[in-house]
Amino acid sequence: MSRYSNDEYPEKICDDCGASYGNWYKKGYYIGPPHHCATYHTGTCDLCKADNVPVTEPRDYGHLRAKWRSEIMKRDVI
Ligand SMILES: [Zn+2]
Repeated sequence: MSRYSNDEYPEKICDDCGASYGNWYKKGYYIGPPHHCATYHTGTCDLCKADNVPVTEPRDYGHLRAKWRSEIMKRDVI
């Protein structure tokens, strides 16, 4: 599998990434709608590539913030 390109929007992300890059989280606090239901299933996160974790669509986190790519690029420099 190739890594994401700049044009690729992830299809499913894990809770960690949702909390880190989603619009419904601000500094680690959830600020989204109080009664939103997300459908999780076990899979691989498109962002951090964690395997066998509960994942769901980015829209369940209010979609990713505009600068999610640069935030991940920064994190990927190990
Ligand atoms: Zn993740």
